Amino acid sequence: TYTNADLVARRDAAVPRGVASAASGVYAAYAENAELWDVEGNRYIDFVGGIGVLNTGHRHPSVIAAAKAQEDAYTHTSFQVVPYAPYIELAERLNALAPGDTPKKTLLVTTGAEAVENAVKIARAATGRPGVIAFTGGYHGRTLLTLGMTGKISPYKKDVGPFPSDIFRAPFPSVRDGITVEDALTGLKNLFLTDAQPERVAAIIIEPVLGEGGYIPVPTEMLVALREICDQHGILLIADEVQAGFGRTGTWFAIEHSGVEPDLITVAKSMAGGYPLAGVIGRSDVMDAMEPGGLGGTYGGNPVACAAALAAIDAIAHENLLGRSTAMGDKLKARFAEIGARAAPYRMWDIRGLGAMVAVEFVTDFDSATPDTALVKRLIAHAQERGLLLLSCGMQGNAVRVMVPLTASDEILDEGLAIFEEALAAAYA
Ligand code: PMP
Repeated sequence: TYTNADLVARRDAAVPRGVASAASGVYAAYAENAELWDVEGNRYIDFVGGIGVLNTGHRHPSVIAAAKAQEDAYTHTSFQVVPYAPYIELAERLNALAPGDTPKKTLLVTTGAEAVENAVKIARAATGRPGVIAFTGGYHGRTLLTLGMTGKISPYKKDVGPFPSDIFRAPFPSVRDGITVEDALTGLKNLFLTDAQPERVAAIIIEPVLGEGGYIPVPTEMLVALREICDQHGILLIADEVQAGFGRTGTWFAIEHSGVEPDLITVAKSMAGGYPLAGVIGRSDVMDAMEPGGLGGTYGGNPVACAAALAAIDAIAHENLLGRSTAMGDKLKARFAEIGARAAPYRMWDIRGLGAMVAVEFVTDFDSATPDTALVKRLIAHAQERGLLLLSCGMQGNAVRVMVPLTASDEILDEGLAIFEEALAAAYA
């Protein structure tokens, strides 16, 4: 048996400090649906879900059963050597789920960053062009290409450049920062004039709801305009759905809210209910651009993870988790509004999101709208002390996001929100 304190000390000695843990001092022992217990038996309600991985909850029974059944057959052959049915079945499922009528194909890999890397490789091969345009505040991963695309320096990009060339940045439309859709599109058009020759751009990548950057939905007009601009210049549109996908926003993919069909979609996280799996879903003609042998990775599309993903997708469909996400989002927003409106010292600048992908942003005062990062740190610490796991987001880390399992009961949700309210009062005290 362990204590949290023992593990803190051993971790400090054995693991580099660069891999920080938001809930430091909480060492997992057991988890089920939206609850987690640490090695000392303390119980937590989990509003983080392993960073948006657990839309179907910790250890969803059918996900676990599918993974166990797969483990009893084979756990790894490498799809590039001996292929297997679960990979094909999952690809078929994803091709059918992806928005739009264009025939689709799917590549499976292991992490979100790897999915983004491969989407860029495929886009380059398909267009014969090098350029990639990403947005301010976007998060696409921690490998060197995806870090180059990630639009936030600290802590991700600090001290590890240079990053690959031909990555350009366009302004994200953020009302919060006074950037309208029109401004953002002007910025993109200026980028075409100043740095990124449009005929040399392979892809524009955007998170339909900005994730790490603050849970800001991209307005429909922006996505529609990006589709038009991409078509005009022969650029491929990539929707990074790693965090927003698989029901978090009330639809399978967040971009469905806009009606826009992207050329490529990157997926990971909640697709596989807690197992490492990611993918690129895209137009068949684009996906086939690379020659045989050009795509892959030893573990890509691991059979246990594929089996888990098929079960997680079934659970989202059969348990109506898309409807649940929308209802949960309404409830979360209403409850946050109630908490914020109730007492004058609370300074919630914004309650925003799509479906159950909801965040609350805090400022020091409404006039200057200065981000209150310190308050959010205190809020998260007080919540943890009281048994609720929370995570921040936003360029300044001054928002709290909710990634609670969509399978969480109303009781658990209410209990978590009550702790949130108490922790917020304590953070302001
Ligand atoms: N894209 C988005 C939108 C993400 O939110 C993340 C992870 N937070 C990634 C890519 C990278 O995924 P991974 O951490 O699995 O590499």
